[in-house]
Amino acid sequence: MAKAPVLTPRADDFPRWYQDLINKAELADNGPVRGTMVIRPYGYGLWERMQAEMDARIKETGTQNAYFPLLIPQSYLTREADHVEGFAPELAVVTHGGGKELEEPAVVRPTSEMIVNDYFSKWVQSYRDLPLLINQWANVVRWELRPRLFLRTTEFLWQEGHTAHATYEDARDFAAHIHRKVYEDFMVNVLAMDVIAGRKTVKERFAGAINTLTLEGMMGDGKALQMATSHELGQNFAKAFNTRYLSREGRQELVWQTSWGSTTRMIGALVMMHGDDSGLRVPPRLAPVQAVVLAVKEDDAVLAKVREIGDRLRAAGVRVHVDDRTDTPFGRRAVDWELKGVPVRIEVGPRDLEKGTAMLARRIPGGKEPVAIDSLAGMLPAVLEADQALLLTQSRELRESRTSDVATIEEAVEAAAAGGWARLPWAVLGEEGEVKLAEHAVTVRCLVAEDGSVPDSDDAPGNVAVVARAY
Ligand code: AMP
Repeated sequence: MAKAPVLTPRADDFPRWYQDLINKAELADNGPVRGTMVIRPYGYGLWERMQAEMDARIKETGTQNAYFPLLIPQSYLTREADHVEGFAPELAVVTHGGGKELEEPAVVRPTSEMIVNDYFSKWVQSYRDLPLLINQWANVVRWELRPRLFLRTTEFLWQEGHTAHATYEDARDFAAHIHRKVYEDFMVNVLAMDVIAGRKTVKERFAGAINTLTLEGMMGDGKALQMATSHELGQNFAKAFNTRYLSREGRQELVWQTSWGSTTRMIGALVMMHGDDSGLRVPPRLAPVQAVVLAVKEDDAVLAKVREIGDRLRAAGVRVHVDDRTDTPFGRRAVDWELKGVPVRIEVGPRDLEKGTAMLARRIPGGKEPVAIDSLAGMLPAVLEADQALLLTQSRELRESRTSDVATIEEAVEAAAAGGWARLPWAVLGEEGEVKLAEHAVTVRCLVAEDGSVPDSDDAPGNVAVVARAY
């Protein structure tokens, strides 16, 4: 009799497979209030690794971390008209505190442009205070109608960067710098995701921005996911909050601003892009545990050996976990680690010990072979790098094989409905075409220039619209 599958097969029901994986790999649970989420230790470990990698990149740009309050006076929200309109339907509002109705209700931050600007307008005096580069790691609340674990939750964890600059050019270049050097670099080189960078159309732009840059990733079912966005805010918030500086020429000028965010959604992306029917596959550079060393059964010599291997691998710079819970059957533990997507399993039993070998099981390419225990520490770093590269190649191949160039809106809808991305000239599609696409639940993910770069304007000649169904 064939073994029952560990997860709903991906090809049978992708959304169920996703839920199943998150549950069985112990990444998260639904919270009691609809749309909220409990992130379990293994899922949170992934987030901590994301934070560490991103935080280092953010700091390299000269940005510093700070923290602003969760609660924002409701009146702040009315100051920037587009921003209010965009966020009003998603707001959670606190009307009572300490048992009394509040004089002014407070909004739970959906994002922090408003409150940040209130303080920027105090902190920025002259051109010498610019650029002002701030990031915060925080939670935000957006009352989502169609929540899905990690991808779209009512409360999510993120980083939000907020910067103020003296000139339009400086702000524009900084947003682009963050987009490529922080987000894209992290996604490609750590998450092993072959994302594409582009510009959002006016319809898809952040509420209050003059330009939004995006990174879009193709998930395992061919749908798109917006992975992170960087906004040029122009002077919209500066005007609303009167954020001015004294220029070198002695004039009071409004600052130019950016904001940029990436969230726990990236964990969902990791699942949907790299997961398979056996569970998650975590890219080694991200993995909180890169190698797990398993004692196959209770045996003093085996237990001593797995601990020794653990120490040697740790000394070689590998993130290791030693699994010596021999009271749980070995087969079950092996399946659990497979579900969690730990890149490498090293299995040691009494018979292996006699031969001085261990079984090396590789989650990413699959397969298992005996290797000399003494060679493990020497070979593992190269094995992990090869697996990292393989995931990126697979992600690129998926995108390339499921992206097609089309000439008409009908063909674009067809390609998207079949589970793929379509590229079509923006001159053919245009804003009217974009509305037609929406009737088929298809959206313009981004505009890219002919040579694949990010265009400077929506209507630059040769702009190509990348369209797809999206999460
Ligand atoms: P925004 O501030 O709207 O530009 O959002 C920044 C990023 O947050 C987006 O690019 C999405 O990747 C992500 N995001 C937006 N809404 C959610 C949500 N409800 N849950 C998780 N991530 C989200």
